[in-house]
Amino acid sequence: MKHTLFSTYVHQAEIQPQGPKNRLKSLNQELGHEVQVLKNEDLAGQKWSKENYRHGYTSYGSVDRLFDVSPTFMELQTAITGQLKKYLVALGAQASVKDLVMSSMWVNVMPPGSYHTMHIHPFSVVSGTYYLDVSKETSALKLEDPRMGQLMNAPQPKASAKPEQQRFFSLFPKVGEVVLFESWLRHEVPENKAQKPRVSISFNYDWLK
Ligand code: FE
Repeated sequence: MKHTLFSTYVHQAEIQPQGPKNRLKSLNQELGHEVQVLKNEDLAGQKWSKENYRHGYTSYGSVDRLFDVSPTFMELQTAITGQLKKYLVALGAQASVKDLVMSSMWVNVMPPGSYHTMHIHPFSVVSGTYYLDVSKETSALKLEDPRMGQLMNAPQPKASAKPEQQRFFSLFPKVGEVVLFESWLRHEVPENKAQKPRVSISFNYDWLK
């Protein structure tokens, strides 16, 4: 008998915004436009990025509640929360979407050569990223086995072992997809080796107080 225990669930799905069939496409165009405006006009964010986010632009240190300032981002928030509902079911969580609140949402523009090293999102419950402009060539979202610090002399998996047996897993989301994971899961974005920027929108959900 074999038992697979203590699983780590990661949710990856295309969002389903309300409205006409082609709303996803037009929503992405509107979001893309707003990201460019932010990148060009957010002086505080440009300064913050220069000091903390090498080579790229992020609104993490300046405008980190985009759903409060833009109806377009608010629409994205609603669509992502629709996916959160599904994710909580997959987790077998006692909590429902009503117990969580999106506490922050910010944009990331990573030009060729930029990267974001391994990190967690402390103090949050569920985190994730929506993919606005990515391709096969732009970098993955690389996830780390949460037991890494305890593995010590554990036997290394073969290259041919199943994804759930590996120490790392790289996701390559498509435009229009969101990835949700628990905020304690370490992750990174390796160097962008494509010729164009990798554009994404990240967010955190916290417990509703
Ligand atoms: Fe992150």
